[in-house]
Amino acid sequence: MIDPFNRTIDYMRISITDRCNLRCVYCMPQGIHSLPETEILSYEEILRVCTEAAALGIHFIKITGGEPLLREGVPDLVRQLKNTPGIHKVSLTTNGVLLSRYLDALCAAGIDGITISLDSLDGERFRLITGYNGLDTIIRGIHESVSRSIKVKINAVLIDNGGEPEWQDLVDLARVLPLDVRFIEMMPIGYGKAFKGVAHDRILQGLKETYAGITEAEASQGAGPAVYYRIPSFKGEIGFISALSHRFCRTCNRIRLTAEGMLKPCLCYASGIDLKAILRDPDKTNEAIGRALMEAVAMKPASHCFTGTPPIPEGPLEKRAMVTIGG
Ligand code: SAM
Ligand code: SF4
Repeated sequence: MIDPFNRTIDYMRISITDRCNLRCVYCMPQGIHSLPETEILSYEEILRVCTEAAALGIHFIKITGGEPLLREGVPDLVRQLKNTPGIHKVSLTTNGVLLSRYLDALCAAGIDGITISLDSLDGERFRLITGYNGLDTIIRGIHESVSRSIKVKINAVLIDNGGEPEWQDLVDLARVLPLDVRFIEMMPIGYGKAFKGVAHDRILQGLKETYAGITEAEASQGAGPAVYYRIPSFKGEIGFISALSHRFCRTCNRIRLTAEGMLKPCLCYASGIDLKAILRDPDKTNEAIGRALMEAVAMKPASHCFTGTPPIPEGPLEKRAMVTIGG
């Protein structure tokens, strides 16, 4: 599918739950209520959407949440998605808490990649951000993942606390392990509005001062809005998903399906298509799902408006918490 700004849309992020076992301060702090289970799309409904989406050119699926591994049956979902004609790659974004438990099953199901969110390698700081006193568990999950033949990425959202941002230790992971470390700028969505993120130019400048020979890597297929850098002797690359400081929308390749079945053309805007209503209407056929997907792609705006500078917002802004959208 090609959107009105000539971008090829071949990637869909699917949130399979709005529940989480962590309480990241900028995403799902204490006190957020989860939706009743009946309001969440069933796996059958998700697979119906994906079959239509794949026929229209969605080749890459990312399973996200909330914490996707909290929902039973994720490996089986992965297996069925991998068996869907037209789906080339299926990957998962997780906080890593339950990763060790499900890794064998995920690999057996054919998962292509795992992204683990990790904002700090300092146990106490990690606890303050996530409410979880178990950094070791996450680190174990990372090591176990890289020992499999799957692509592993670390996603870090740094909070600006006034001091030097903690990027060095995270970057060093890509030196010692074959994984990519990606920095994602804090987006003013949901609870993220209350935090100041770290501008990526600051980290990049630090990288350039520290590592001679750092070069920008050529964009690879399916990279989406990430820009990658290579450092000599590193096993993995360093990526930046600079939502704010370098508006990344020119290379946007995605649509999103929220846990409650809203098809979202853009993270920034509240607008979307209620796919659940279509899926649960016995009079609606699979063609109606395909039409909704094409409509969502046709609705994609040229760019987000997080920074408050032009372009002028094209509609009501997203008010939901990130945990319900899936990042
Ligand atoms: N629980 C899983 C995890 O943490 O990876 C998947 C869902 S989580 C919503 C997906 C990603 O969104 C995480 O990497 C998280 O750090 C990021 N995220 C959450 N709120 C954000 C915000 N306001 N700005 C930028 N990224 C955010
Ligand atoms: Fe949970 Fe992921 Fe949100 Fe943290 S970022 S609260 S782990 S959904």
